[in-house]
Amino acid sequence: NWSPDTCRWDGGELVPYGPLTLLPAAQVLNYGQSIFEGLKAYRFDGGSDAAAAAAEHRVLLFRPDANAARFEAGARRMCMPPVPSAMFLAAVQAVARANAAWVPPPARGSLYIRPLLLGTGPLLGLCPAPSYTFLVYAVPVGGRAKEGRLVPLDYLIHESRHRAAPRGVGSTKAAGNYSPCLLAQAEARAQGCHDCIYLDAKSDTYLEEGSGCNVFMTRGSVVTTPPAAGSILPGITRASLLQLAAALGYAVREAPISWKEALQADEMFGSGTALVVQPIRSVTFKGRRVMFCRTSSSNGTSVDDGESAANGHANEHANGNGQAN
Ligand code: PMP
Repeated sequence: NWSPDTCRWDGGELVPYGPLTLLPAAQVLNYGQSIFEGLKAYRFDGGSDAAAAAAEHRVLLFRPDANAARFEAGARRMCMPPVPSAMFLAAVQAVARANAAWVPPPARGSLYIRPLLLGTGPLLGLCPAPSYTFLVYAVPVGGRAKEGRLVPLDYLIHESRHRAAPRGVGSTKAAGNYSPCLLAQAEARAQGCHDCIYLDAKSDTYLEEGSGCNVFMTRGSVVTTPPAAGSILPGITRASLLQLAAALGYAVREAPISWKEALQADEMFGSGTALVVQPIRSVTFKGRRVMFCRTSSSNGTSVDDGESAANGHANEHANGNGQAN
């Protein structure tokens, strides 16, 4: 807890998962002063002595220092006392260690870790909270693959809703950024899609990101993702993919992607801590669906995805009601 009397963080213990006590006037309940992070811990049973590794439940966190830095930047943007990096890292490591027995074996899943920073002090009136709570909880999650295959995603490029306002808090993981996505997601699902990709609020032309992931497109050997500035969250997975793609010899561009370019991509994919890297099978924009890759559905039956987009972009399936084929 951070207290206004000491102006510092203190306390910190591991407790069983359970309810929080908050006053009705807690800032976070009234004005939403709240940020979060998402990290994954993976079981690491490698090395020469696999049995010992399994017994010790060794876990590895994916780039926690990057989450600590983003959490700190987010706290400053939201007028909250930043959690020092060392405290953030110690807390996520302690939670990962304490839950190591629950981390699924390699390739079967991981431990999703959720740090939260909340304005818990009570105050009626729009001001930063007088006191804050930093907490971390964790939940084991399965892999994204079903029967050994990644399930490709269908996205709606939303033509009438934005995720984040220009000059707002889109580049932070503010809890309030996610509630506007709920209705947009429901609308995407009503069109047979899993989720949506939002366009920029200034020109309604350029792809920003999904409700919870960054987006990429490829054309030939060029990999492009929108610049993570302004209202786009600078994803940690995104940054790793940019490094990996460059190391693998792809030309890597951080450049705006218009919806027109997206419809002509060879491939698209999403990236994020929860999603990891997931192929996008189709995008739908204004009732027109474009398919990107040929794959199999989760029950193993073949899905006719039409011609590969790489094959002259002759892959457009206009499909009146936008339902998945
Ligand atoms: N954009 C948004 C809006 C997100 O919620 C996430 C998930 N954190 C991402 C992008 C991907 O970021 P990361 O790779 O750090 O998880």
